[in-house]
Amino acid sequence: AKREGFSAIPNTTWDQVGALREVRTQMTQLITWPIAEPELWATMGMDPVSGVLLWGPPGCGKTLVAKAVANEAQASFIAIKGPELLNKFVGESERSIRLLFARARQSQPCVLFFDELDSLVSRRDDSNDASSRIVNAMLTELDGVDSRSSVYVIGATNRPDCLDEAMLRPGRFGSLVFVDLPSAPERADILKTIVKSRLGNKATGEMLEEVDAIARTDSADGFSGADLTSLFNNAAFHCIERRQPNEPLPPLSPDDWKAALDKVRKSVLNP
Ligand code: ATP
Repeated sequence: AKREGFSAIPNTTWDQVGALREVRTQMTQLITWPIAEPELWATMGMDPVSGVLLWGPPGCGKTLVAKAVANEAQASFIAIKGPELLNKFVGESERSIRLLFARARQSQPCVLFFDELDSLVSRRDDSNDASSRIVNAMLTELDGVDSRSSVYVIGATNRPDCLDEAMLRPGRFGSLVFVDLPSAPERADILKTIVKSRLGNKATGEMLEEVDAIARTDSADGFSGADLTSLFNNAAFHCIERRQPNEPLPPLSPDDWKAALDKVRKSVLNP
């Protein structure tokens, strides 16, 4: 099991991320460039943007993108899910937030990733003292990230409209990057990426052509990257299931994919 908030350079690379070309460019420019060449920003008298908010429907690659950019920048990666920080004891959630930022400062260059950010810092509500203390602790830490330091904070949410507006000011989560549900050609790119990364050189050209067609069919309409991963897993299991005893595993066939399409349903219902 992974320790909470454990920091290490992730081994996810951009090769494992399908589609999302524009997102990749933006993240590289916002995070990898200033980590690699901070003097470019200094020469221009600019502070790099220290906080980025990835937003969009669930399962479309926000976590994957955060890991890939940390890997590209060779930065350590500390990931935490918003709800994991909520603690019923007075002051404990705020303390956890302070500790995470302290750990990030000690692990520079570092990407500090808050998944499900909305559950942690939703709009302050006068009647809820605890949530407003958490928002304030987060704002204090975000404002305290030294512009010369190499600490980058990435937040992820499906519902940016639920966040406390103060979070979105410049110097905090000042840059918004939208991670959308894939189109048909993007699904094809994602599914091929998944097949190549899982099967390595056992993914033949012929197989990838089939995969391309499968991902574009109407029954895959509305599938997220997470749904496409589940599609692959179902096809792979179908292939294992039909294996003959004492025979090597056959390659994935169109039948395996059709069986998988019968099982998987899209998970994002109203994008
Ligand atoms: P959530 O909002 O639920 O946290 P998310 O947007 O962070 O979702 P991820 O956790 O990054 O989504 O994606 C879930 C899984 O779906 C990934 O582990 C990966 O297997 C697959 N996936 C999603 N998007 C892509 C993609 N663009 N390329 C390849 N795989 C993808």
